[in-house]
Amino acid sequence: MIDTPLAPQDLGPSKGLHTISLLSSDERLQGRPKLCSDCGLCDSALKTRMSSACLFVRNQTTEIEQRLHGRTRRPDDELHFGIHRAQYAARMRHPNPKAQWTGIVTALGARLLEQDQVEAVITTGAAPGTRFKSEPVLARTPAEVLATAGNKPCLSPTLCLLDQVRDQGIRRLAVIGTSCQVHMLRALEPELGLETLFVIGIPCSDNVTYPDLEYFLTQVSRSPQTIVHYEFMQDFSLWIRHEDGRKERVNFIDFPMDKLHGIFPSSCLSCFDYPNALADLTIGYMGATLGWQWVLVRTALGAELFERIRPELELGELTSRGDRRRGMPHYIQRLTQPPGSKRPPFLVRQLVAYLQRTRGPKGLEFARAIIEMKLLRNLNYVRSQFPRFEARVVPAHVYQTLEPYADNYQAVFGRPLAPQAEV
Ligand SMILES: Cc1cc2nc3c(=O)[nH]c(=O)nc-3n(C[C@H](O)[C@H](O)[C@H](O)COP(=O)(O)OP(=O)(O)OC[C@H]3O[C@@H](n4cnc5c(N)ncnc54)[C@H](O)[C@@H]3O)c2cc1C
Repeated sequence: MIDTPLAPQDLGPSKGLHTISLLSSDERLQGRPKLCSDCGLCDSALKTRMSSACLFVRNQTTEIEQRLHGRTRRPDDELHFGIHRAQYAARMRHPNPKAQWTGIVTALGARLLEQDQVEAVITTGAAPGTRFKSEPVLARTPAEVLATAGNKPCLSPTLCLLDQVRDQGIRRLAVIGTSCQVHMLRALEPELGLETLFVIGIPCSDNVTYPDLEYFLTQVSRSPQTIVHYEFMQDFSLWIRHEDGRKERVNFIDFPMDKLHGIFPSSCLSCFDYPNALADLTIGYMGATLGWQWVLVRTALGAELFERIRPELELGELTSRGDRRRGMPHYIQRLTQPPGSKRPPFLVRQLVAYLQRTRGPKGLEFARAIIEMKLLRNLNYVRSQFPRFEARVVPAHVYQTLEPYADNYQAVFGRPLAPQAEV
């Protein structure tokens, strides 16, 4: 039995944007830092290490990259995508129909168990009776990993399973996780006593709590109860599939932002790692064209992971079209509007959606555009809501990535993009 979302009138965002805790009513989260993505670390015995691992206390991206790669990012695409040694457009030759895309992530997790490379895989399944409520799973068999295919597009306390890993004496582990989970894991990796750790990352942005996910679906779909799959696509629209195979498509510009105001947790609005740069391998889609997945191989272990799944992949071509920099001044201007403003009139929205679809950036340029937009939006969010946190939670590469817009930023906001060195 799949649970059905409540009627829209019964729901609302769990909090206002200015509320700083994740779900102020959730007792489990009390005593957590002001910015918390509920990664699960604080549900484990490692809670005592939170202050030295949590990216919302101190973002350690630069130090961790230095440890993993022996260097910092090059001033090219690595500023946007993170350090990588190769990238591919790929898809499974035999796609898993239950997967979010073609199922590279869960197939890889399953192979690692089959080939006895690991004893367990930490992954995220759906809570019983739901389609989308996340439930962390310590998979010990390939079938258990495959059963977790598909996104559970809400925050998941995945790292709580590190206690079970320790209790079960597991020394060879793979973890599939979002960027915040991966940051915590990497920060504590030297202390975990693992012989092998494979980190398979998925890109992540604007995640929400499960109640807010239910609310979101009531706002964007005519039939939220019957949704079996949805994805934010590279054509600037949300594609939704229903139980009976029916499809809906909603342009991003048509989202009722005035009603969605407040659903995104402060933590996700203070995150600067959309492409999951600290993983061994990132598997997403946003740098590839429709129908393909985007694979970034980062470390030597990532290269080993890729070789394990390569025989099952069809490889395509990564392309890049359009010029993201043309639209960015408009975007910077839009950031001055109060959050939750009403959307533009229908005809304007139609025109914008058409232009985004036909003239908007494509392929790798789409990924660069969307990453820059989120970096800018989140930098502004931190500056307006948590100004004292900026020096601790905004990594240095953010200012470097956004440098081409520094004059524009200064003109619109009347302050420099990058913090000025103290004299
Ligand atoms: C909230 C969210 C936002 C995302 N946003 C983007 C994006 O903007 N751009 C982009 O390129 N990719 C994004 N992704 C990743 C993308 O949607 C696919 O998950 C990825 O490409 C893998 O597809 P697949 O078919 O190989 O995965 P599958 O084989 O279907 O496996 C999916 C894997 O995702 C894991 N997973 C599912 N839900 C969660 C969760 N809540 N927390 C942690 N792990 C989870 C499962 O454990 C499973 O292992 C996002 C994923 C999530 C969960």
